[in-house]
Amino acid sequence: MDNRKPFIAGNWKMFKTGSEAIKTAEELVKLVADVTDTEVMIAPPFTALSAVSDVVKETNVSLGAQNFFWENEGAYTGEISSAMLLSAGCKYVIIGHSERRQFFGETDETVNKKIKTAISSKLLPIFCIGESEKERISKDTFSILDKQVSKGLKGLFSDELQHLVIAYEPVWAIGTGKTATREQAQEVHLFLRSLIEKKFGNLLAKSLRILYGGSVKPDNIAELMAMPDVDGALVGGASLNAETFGKIVHF
Ligand code: PEP
Repeated sequence: MDNRKPFIAGNWKMFKTGSEAIKTAEELVKLVADVTDTEVMIAPPFTALSAVSDVVKETNVSLGAQNFFWENEGAYTGEISSAMLLSAGCKYVIIGHSERRQFFGETDETVNKKIKTAISSKLLPIFCIGESEKERISKDTFSILDKQVSKGLKGLFSDELQHLVIAYEPVWAIGTGKTATREQAQEVHLFLRSLIEKKFGNLLAKSLRILYGGSVKPDNIAELMAMPDVDGALVGGASLNAETFGKIVHF
């Protein structure tokens, strides 16, 4: 089993200029330097990646990007390739975040293309899924997640998914201050692990890291992390401040 090292990832969304990002990263690196048993990642905006990469180089903080395009290069104005992210120092890339799905037309099909390209270019994907409030109320959570996983991982085999990370982010909990209870998170994470077992086998299911995301804060991280199938967190708003994020990392 256990490459399920706890993983705390920060998504800075569209916040921070280059100099602001450097400052936060410098503070964070100091605050989490003592952490060995948890993996830490931050995903600044594209314009700050290279500068933050210099700050986190040779530290225990990894760098991730928030998005990319699946083609290797070409006439795709405004887009960024996996090779560009790798050369900027990224190890991870967030794929299919609900804000990308909601505001930028990301679909299960585009997510699938991105996951395939990330894997083939050795960028580690953090694959985001989650139901809306309406879907939860109508008791469609599991069927929606099943569809997102099936389509998002279509055509992939278990040996290609060794480094996949799934982030379960209920849309109703992102940036709203409403966190899923630890029981709600555990219920879904267990469902997802069983789904992965059914589709890709027991070995992958046992080693797959499943993060929870949605209004994670210093005061709710410990109870979430105490659940057996919660392996970490994808943190938005609370990752923007180094001290707050440092507390989450030290759950
Ligand atoms: C996110 O952006 O992935 C997220 C979970 O945001 P927040 O922590 O602000 O809810």
